[in-house]
Amino acid sequence: MPQSSERPALKLRRIQDLGVKNKKILVRVDYNVPLKNGKVEDDSRIKETLPTLNHLLEGGAKLVLISHLGRPKGKAEAKYSLKPAAEVLEKLLGKKIGFASDCVGSSAEKAAAALKAGDVLMMENLRFHPGEEANDSDFAKALSKLGDLFVQDAFGALHRAHASTAGIPKLLKGAIGFLVQKELEFLDRVIGNPNRPFLAVIGGAKVSDKLGVLVKLLDRVDSLVIGGGMAYTFLAAQGISIGKSLLEKDKVQEAQGVVERAYAKKVECLLPADHLAVREIRPDAEVIATQGMAIPPELIGVDIGPHAIEFFAEEIQKAKTIFWNGPMGIFEIDAFAKGSLAVAQAMAEATEKGATTIVGGGDSLAVLSKAGLSGKMSHCSTGGGASLELLEGKILPGLEALAS
Ligand code: AMP
Repeated sequence: MPQSSERPALKLRRIQDLGVKNKKILVRVDYNVPLKNGKVEDDSRIKETLPTLNHLLEGGAKLVLISHLGRPKGKAEAKYSLKPAAEVLEKLLGKKIGFASDCVGSSAEKAAAALKAGDVLMMENLRFHPGEEANDSDFAKALSKLGDLFVQDAFGALHRAHASTAGIPKLLKGAIGFLVQKELEFLDRVIGNPNRPFLAVIGGAKVSDKLGVLVKLLDRVDSLVIGGGMAYTFLAAQGISIGKSLLEKDKVQEAQGVVERAYAKKVECLLPADHLAVREIRPDAEVIATQGMAIPPELIGVDIGPHAIEFFAEEIQKAKTIFWNGPMGIFEIDAFAKGSLAVAQAMAEATEKGATTIVGGGDSLAVLSKAGLSGKMSHCSTGGGASLELLEGKILPGLEALAS
């Protein structure tokens, strides 16, 4: 029998309860946005922070914004600069904002100290310093010098124990912003007491990343759809040939374990009934629909096939609560995006008919925006990893650090 959430409730201070007038507020935002040719491709994550930023500005605060972007591995790299995000924010706020080329050190501190009420200063990428991901206490200390108070609004980073999530709250009085509040309220409601049947649609490339989540999800959901590159490891576990498709050999047994556990728990577990496959992964490759679950030896699976689309869409229509994370194929290439777009469409129809639909993860959100369906879900979570870990029942380190 699926269980409800066993995650203990944390006592968290809210931004509404902070006195912010004339205070320097260090705000952790998640501006880890997709960039193309130095421009922000999707500004949803920036827009989602506006309620928090406007609330603070209206309250007479001075804002120092910190964020990460991409994986620069502890050193400065121009392609991971937050400048394009700062430019978008400037337009959205309709006011000039400052930009500091380093997030710590004397020039950063000076820039923060010079702020007046209503000013906004965006700091350069936190991950230009190795101390961020290492949760180094000296780095957290250096960051904490930039503010009098801390506001955490980076929902998408809460599952990481980094200096800006787990370190700063030990040094500054902190609160959660409106975006984090919205995400928690929504996901808690759905996890704690979902309308059933509850379906999870999980895709993407990496089985290893998601095995733990899948096992936990079996305690919560009534049915599970597995698509995308990770499905091939599950098919291989069933002895089905997958050609040259993505395979995590060392995870085959664990994948089989998930299927067996699903069976034992009476959770319906659906794998793609057919696929779209190619000889080479190229946008202009000839796309071949397989006849059934097996993929011929010379082919690579790149998307779910028409029958899989039909079965998955039917499953989505039957459910009352649907959580989706991860694309069904290599959606970045238009010819291999059909399955992901079809899931987005089915989710939109289900929402219209009254189901609660939640989408988490950058790739799935990119699919929604490609399909023009971003506004058609009950909730689009800005954090794929964080929402999955909440669903698993884990305590997010960034919240635990803030709890009183
Ligand atoms: P993940 O980070 O594990 O959620 O995976 C997301 C990535 O999975 C996307 O970039 C997709 O292109 C990729 N993906 C989805 N389906 C496939 C597939 N059939 N083969 C290879 N990669 C895939």
